[in-house]
Amino acid sequence: MQRRDFVKKVGAGGLALSAGLTGTVRAKSDAEFKWKMVTTWPKNFPGLGTGANRLAELIGEMSGGRIQVKVYGATELVPALEVFDAVSRGTAEMGHGAAYYWKGKSEAAQFFSTVPFGLTAQEINGWFYYGGGLELWQELYGQFGLIPAPAGNSGVQMGGWFNKEIKSVEDLKGLKMRIPGLGGEVLTRAGGTAVNLPGGELFTALQSGLIDATEWVGPYNDLAFGLYKAAKYYYYPGWHEPGTCLEAMINKKAFEALPKDLQSIVLNACKVVNQDMLAEFTARNPGALQDLVKKHGVELRRFPDDVIKKLKQLSDEVVAEIGQKDEFSKKVYASYAKFLQQCREYSGVSELAYLIARDRT
Ligand code: CA
Repeated sequence: MQRRDFVKKVGAGGLALSAGLTGTVRAKSDAEFKWKMVTTWPKNFPGLGTGANRLAELIGEMSGGRIQVKVYGATELVPALEVFDAVSRGTAEMGHGAAYYWKGKSEAAQFFSTVPFGLTAQEINGWFYYGGGLELWQELYGQFGLIPAPAGNSGVQMGGWFNKEIKSVEDLKGLKMRIPGLGGEVLTRAGGTAVNLPGGELFTALQSGLIDATEWVGPYNDLAFGLYKAAKYYYYPGWHEPGTCLEAMINKKAFEALPKDLQSIVLNACKVVNQDMLAEFTARNPGALQDLVKKHGVELRRFPDDVIKKLKQLSDEVVAEIGQKDEFSKKVYASYAKFLQQCREYSGVSELAYLIARDRT
């Protein structure tokens, strides 16, 4: 008897509970959304591609399956460099890439990924979320029917893989290096030849001597690409990409069709992935660098001071010129440059001062 009573009670409680839950779900909306996410990365590529996968999974989990996002690697649905247009016209509801790929839309886009000798990962997130950076980014992408969101960061990249030693500024002259974007412009002004090649062609180009050097990301990604088999020296620091922010872009109409709670889930999932990817790189880069040096005999080299000084001087020129291209670029540059200057002053008593105290004394 006692047992039957117990079963009855549990049964009744269970019913009440499930009725309560059903009520809550109905109060929101049980509409389901099937989205496509196109990316500029090879499918499942460590760090960058897996970051896009993680974003899609999170949106699915956080929404209880009400939004299902299917991820397409570069070229699966559209080529890497058509991601922006594909999401803009609604071929896919979301994209994952990096804003500097879209400088053809506006030179200012480059400030939303990274610029040489610019903000670090920690600093650019400060600029985005609390320094006006994200509002400027929204203003730009809004013209194309898109909503942007920071969605990953590589942290400070490496200077790259070299088959020629860089001992002075003279050694940059005639150097054929795969280095895209503003870093490439800086190298050209230093007398080198900047070559732009997609990631998939780097290894062969380096091994065959078509190029003398290439940059890619950092130890974790570079190890996965096997670049150590094609070059002898691994240079640092990655002056050209000090904390590259990856982006999610969302088709505005698709976003506006979502109920409010799902809109919040999409944007907050981007925020989680933005931090999560940086944590992954932070955790995996040190071990990957050890493998490169200890297992694969890579020679680690720091760019000499006079080379860094020259690159910095040229970078400042190049970045300032981008900031004068048009009215919008002027506005973005003014905001970015002011924030950078504040960070430089503060770093001297915070991160920089602390790291010197911790690691160099
Ligand atoms: Ca890079």
